[in-house]
Amino acid sequence: MAVPLQDTLGRPVRDLRISVTDRCNFRCVYCMPKEIYGRGYQFLERRQLLTFEEIERLSRVFASLGVEKIRLTGGEPLLRRELERLVEMLGGIPGVELTLTTNGSLLPLKARVLADAGLRRVTVSLDSLDDQVFKAMNDVDVPVERVLAGIEAAAAVGLSPVKVNMVVKRGVNEDSVLPMARYFQGSGHILRFIEYMDVGHTNGWRLDDVVSAAEIVATIGSELPLEPIEPNYAGEVARRYRYRDGGGEIGVIASVTEPFCGACTRARLSAEGRLYTCLFATEGHDLRALVRGGASESDLAERIGRVWRARGDRYSELRSAETADLPKIEMSYIGG
Ligand code: SAM
Ligand code: SF4
Ligand code: SF4
Repeated sequence: MAVPLQDTLGRPVRDLRISVTDRCNFRCVYCMPKEIYGRGYQFLERRQLLTFEEIERLSRVFASLGVEKIRLTGGEPLLRRELERLVEMLGGIPGVELTLTTNGSLLPLKARVLADAGLRRVTVSLDSLDDQVFKAMNDVDVPVERVLAGIEAAAAVGLSPVKVNMVVKRGVNEDSVLPMARYFQGSGHILRFIEYMDVGHTNGWRLDDVVSAAEIVATIGSELPLEPIEPNYAGEVARRYRYRDGGGEIGVIASVTEPFCGACTRARLSAEGRLYTCLFATEGHDLRALVRGGASESDLAERIGRVWRARGDRYSELRSAETADLPKIEMSYIGG
């Protein structure tokens, strides 16, 4: 039997995040601040993006190496034209669960066609229920109502339970934590709070801006009593809590205060086909050149295997004042 693929710390490759575009219709302060991603910003051109056929081919190779879950992301994945065609193509890979992360603004239009193409799950990012706070977070004029309509549209076509991701940034939306918890309690959707991370180098991250998962749980628990529950599976990134009164559950992702690199089985493929073995990697590995250069499936598997076997990333466990300033890849490029 073939030796299972593992990195230098014994971690297999189980998840693949694929960024299908580096463009976005939002300008979230923690991800694509407008001062940097303004009018003159040079996004990738179409010919630079992996085609759907190239993405499918690489995905099949990753699946043969152990990947069981693929998440489509970006930038904003719903901006990629005919994304449903890719969903259909990837849905045909045996043993792979396909999901998608979106800012939700186009979901009212797209939920049905995505579900018809075979998508089963979706995660929607939403940072506040208050239009003013929401706008202060993403710098665009999309009303919260549109994202909520997207969440309901997704649930209505069976993309459920919908996970709702809220990034909490000190002084910007921490007051939205409780209203969000109240709103989603008992809704059937699963709200997850994410600590603000120092991805990329354009968001001006400071440790003081991070609201810790412990603080978030304490804030919610003071009004809506919570108790911890077991993870759904070994290595689950979110820590789960349920409302004692039976109103469902929440998750917290403590990437800064309680890093989980030891269980990180995630590879990332950028929209132009570069492979990254960590969210905080400085360099990617160009798979597009191989694909376009006529590499066979076994050439691709060999190359990916070589990169993964050499992987020793554990940035979040080593994070310090010094590492915050190292050059890193942007979240919108690599996909969260
Ligand atoms: N545009 C889509 C969206 O916002 O859901 C998909 C791409 S986005 C980069 C993926 C996830 O990364 C989102 O849930 C977003 O909130 C999260 N994210 C982006 N920047 C972050 C940061 N600095 N810290 C923590 N999470 C971040
Ligand atoms: Fe766009 Fe998502 Fe980044 Fe916000 S978090 S700027 S919606 S890619
Ligand atoms: Fe994985 Fe890198 Fe994040 Fe650690 S810092 S959990 S290795 S992506």
